[in-house]
Amino acid sequence: SVTTKPPPSPSPLRNAKFFQANMRILVTGGAGFIGSHLVDRLMENEKNERIWHNLRGLKGYLPLSLVIVVDNYFTGSKDNLKKWIGHPRFELIRHDVTETLLVEVDQIYHLACPASPIFYKYNPVKVAHFCISILFQNRRDASVSQSSLVLGLFFSCLAELALTDIHAIVFSLYLMILLLKALTSMTIKTNVIGTLNMLGLAKRVGARILLTSTSEVYGDPLMHPQDETYWGNVNPIGVRSCYDEGKRVAETLMYDYHRQHGIEIRIARIFNTYGPRMNIDDGRVVSNFIAQAVRGEPLTVQAPGTQTRSFCYVSDMVDGLIRLMEGDNTGPINIGNPGEFTMLELAETVKELINPDVEIISVENTPDDPRQRKPDITKAKELLGWEPKIKLRDGLPLMEDDFRTRLGVTRKN
Ligand code: NAD
Ligand code: UDP
Ligand code: UDP
Repeated sequence: SVTTKPPPSPSPLRNAKFFQANMRILVTGGAGFIGSHLVDRLMENEKNERIWHNLRGLKGYLPLSLVIVVDNYFTGSKDNLKKWIGHPRFELIRHDVTETLLVEVDQIYHLACPASPIFYKYNPVKVAHFCISILFQNRRDASVSQSSLVLGLFFSCLAELALTDIHAIVFSLYLMILLLKALTSMTIKTNVIGTLNMLGLAKRVGARILLTSTSEVYGDPLMHPQDETYWGNVNPIGVRSCYDEGKRVAETLMYDYHRQHGIEIRIARIFNTYGPRMNIDDGRVVSNFIAQAVRGEPLTVQAPGTQTRSFCYVSDMVDGLIRLMEGDNTGPINIGNPGEFTMLELAETVKELINPDVEIISVENTPDDPRQRKPDITKAKELLGWEPKIKLRDGLPLMEDDFRTRLGVTRKN
């Protein structure tokens, strides 16, 4: 007969892993880019780690934990989670976090937020593309008024088909403005009402809650690199404000609930993150450059090209988020890669690594674009024992196969 030898383990009650087992973990926005990688990690932990216990003479393996994803598929997709659908310890709920949510959980990773800059930063034609992709992928969102979405889509199609017709252009612009209004209000609603609801949930069930805030809370920073004590330089009425100010209010709500109701909170300030499953159409620089390089199109560097960002590979990000959740520090804590690059340097690196034949062109920029951004991660290093492992040059090529598959472009031999 086969005898199972239990792994050596300290007293289960003192073993942190003991408390991780049998956990119900909610991930809002879990069908998105970072969320789905986080879910993979949480599920894989559970698959690989069976925890032996000997509790008052009652020996055995503890039940594994349950991961519940809540998402309205606005920018995320079920495809990102397809390997877990049907798994007994995984549940997927279509739900908008601006509505009340009743579930019983122990931890909440609150990521849900329309993080796509395309609607604030791009021209109507790009928006039209995005709208059409939403239509075909059935990713409509409940909180966008049906009529504005349908009308917007109709005129987007007109704009796509008849861009030379001045009436179509004027109408599509008008409808884009309507859509933009619906979507910016959705961003601020998700950040404010969505976070309030998740805090209400955390309060009712006594769960610990982690918010994925953003480096955008620093705005166009006057301090470089940015550490967590910096209060930021944010335009409260600009085109990005629904996102930046939305996250600032979300942080305020987290601290108010912590102080008033003793909720256990964790705040991560995430800096630009990249990796497989990034949304191809949402206009972020890394996904734009990789998609352009794969398609053999020019890489569009927005002027002046000397603006900087620091890019963190998604597996490092997930590692940082889990450490923050499991540790004792509330944050806010910067999670990002301090390697800083200009957009021109990024374009040159993508060109060299993915497609040396493409050209690099300069295009117009959008308002309020931060000129520089780089995290000071001293706090993450000291308090979480975390620092990123993957360098930009190693991470970028890891996206190529995923982008080729999704874009249907095969590799030239
Ligand atoms: P993403 O768009 O891929 O994921 C967001 C997910 O939230 C999507 O699946 C979307 O469908 C869902 N969602 C949006 N509104 C919702 C709502 N009202 N109800 C339910 N679900 C909703 O974006 P991401 O890059 O994975 O970002 C995840 C989180 O990290 C966001 O909170 C974002 O603000 C933050 N963040 C990301 C970056 C980055 O570089 N990717 C940087 C800073 C902060
Ligand atoms: N809430 C939720 N799920 C819960 C508990 C609360 O979605 O399990 C929402 C609820 O709809 C409310 C918000 O969280 O709008 C804030 O809840 P809280 O109890 O803090 O405030 P109150 O309901 O007293 O205004
Ligand atoms: N950017 C660019 N080309 C693109 C898209 C973006 O040069 O095709 C630039 C943009 O002007 C900004 C930087 O890349 O300076 C990062 O933009 P992104 O939207 O990815 O992130 P965020 O501005 O939110 O940091």
